[in-house]
Amino acid sequence: MAIATQEILEKRVLIGGEWIESDSGDRFEVHSPGDGSLIGSVPRCTERDVQNAIDAAREGHKALTRLSVKRRAEMLWRASQIAERRAEEDAVLLCREVGKTIREARDEINVYSNPHYVEAAEGIKRFRGVINPSTQDDSNDKRLLITHEPVGVVGVISPWNWPGDIPNIAASHALAAGNAVILKPASTTPFSAIALAEIYEEAGFPSGSISVLTGPGATVGAELVRNPGTNAISFTGEIKTGEYLTTIAGIKRLLLEMGGNGPLVIMDDANLDAAAEAAITGCFYLAGQVCTASERILVHEAVHDEFVDRLVARTRTLRVGDPLDESTDMGPLNNEANAEKVQRHIDDAKARGGRFLTGGGSKGLYFEPAVIDGVTSDFLMAREETFGPVAPIMTFGSLDEAIEIANEGPYGLQGAAFTSDLRTAFLLGEGIRCGTVLINETNNYWDQLAPFGGMKKSGLGRELSDWILSELTEVKQISIDIAKVRQ
Ligand code: NDP
Repeated sequence: MAIATQEILEKRVLIGGEWIESDSGDRFEVHSPGDGSLIGSVPRCTERDVQNAIDAAREGHKALTRLSVKRRAEMLWRASQIAERRAEEDAVLLCREVGKTIREARDEINVYSNPHYVEAAEGIKRFRGVINPSTQDDSNDKRLLITHEPVGVVGVISPWNWPGDIPNIAASHALAAGNAVILKPASTTPFSAIALAEIYEEAGFPSGSISVLTGPGATVGAELVRNPGTNAISFTGEIKTGEYLTTIAGIKRLLLEMGGNGPLVIMDDANLDAAAEAAITGCFYLAGQVCTASERILVHEAVHDEFVDRLVARTRTLRVGDPLDESTDMGPLNNEANAEKVQRHIDDAKARGGRFLTGGGSKGLYFEPAVIDGVTSDFLMAREETFGPVAPIMTFGSLDEAIEIANEGPYGLQGAAFTSDLRTAFLLGEGIRCGTVLINETNNYWDQLAPFGGMKKSGLGRELSDWILSELTEVKQISIDIAKVRQ
């Protein structure tokens, strides 16, 4: 049964502690990909709004740094309680704006986004510096205090597929470390980031330390990156956008999380039932619109038929439909541009002789989950991120060949492999050039206290836990000579 939806939302943006309209006075509407219904509207901000938010954020940053770590951690715990109170409402909103199923939306809120408040609160308390002895002279009088300072103002530019969790990884840890944060969500999914700003504001974060701006990436996002008033940018999105940002950022921290073309390698000694289930989650979770998705399934020729039979049978059990219906397994794609890309990849696979064992059809934003056999490295699906519900099957004959195919192309985010042999597991783990390699696990598995990020063009820097605290702080050395004091 489908959940009843909420009223039409007329939200404002948060700048300097005030919920206001944009400088332009313009607004834009947001519609649900599930049924096209109007969710609401938000301000269309301008570069002027970005400057205002940065000016307020500089003050917010000063206010935050005057607060003890203990106090900042307490506010994050308070944010966690507020987020828990409104979790179901925020999950329904997220389901409506992304088009992910209500079960996936609850996962995003309860399993991923909301725990970040406490992870950041506890992480910052344990984020220690060191005191080193001097190694430069003979005296025993110098002490080198090596500590961390917040970078200042952090711009957080986020995509539409995880509009709650992704900005909150950066926001929670940036605030914990004493940085002010300006959120700029994707234009098709602005409401989940507005919800985050409401939570932080209610938790008591000082005026200006948390802002949210809605509006086009090309103007609002680009100005956040270009403006010398931001000290770090946490960007998650497409490689081409990230590459552009490197050309306009100037000298500031850039934390880039971008696309993937995740290989899932099935060796001839694999547990095929577990591997097929991993492929289902890897290819069809959130209709394949996950940066870490299994985008290419590499199957050893000796187990090809057995594996593919299992995968096709299981794929046919998936229910595609209304994301607000509790029994739906897969919702629509989020937007037209992504649907056009997925269709282009499907058409290319058909033209190159790919065998569609199930699926391949579509209606509007709703795509059938597809298993496509006979895919080779020249298919668009093999070369680029599809970001849709497809399981392209590629075949290999040896471990070396599997690693070579897995490493083709510019991506290197998250790889996975199934094997029952320890030596093979190590060789795959070490051989696949991805930020994470998961053995006997789906590509869509994310440990929230482990480093997350891409190699090659998939990313720059690492998120989560201590790793993101390091990205959003400066290392500071303070040297003290304890002998040269007035006696
Ligand atoms: P985009 O790069 O199109 O957009 C991401 C964000 O950047 C949006 O907020 C967008 O705003 C903004 N933006 C767009 N153009 C500019 C610009 N010129 N300057 C500054 N900001 C800009 O990505 P998508 O939203 O389409 O997200 C999908 C992509 O994100 C996929 O490639 C996916 O793999 C990747 N991704 C990576 C993850 C990771 O952790 N590695 C996780 C999740 C997704 P607007 O919407 O207004 O255009």
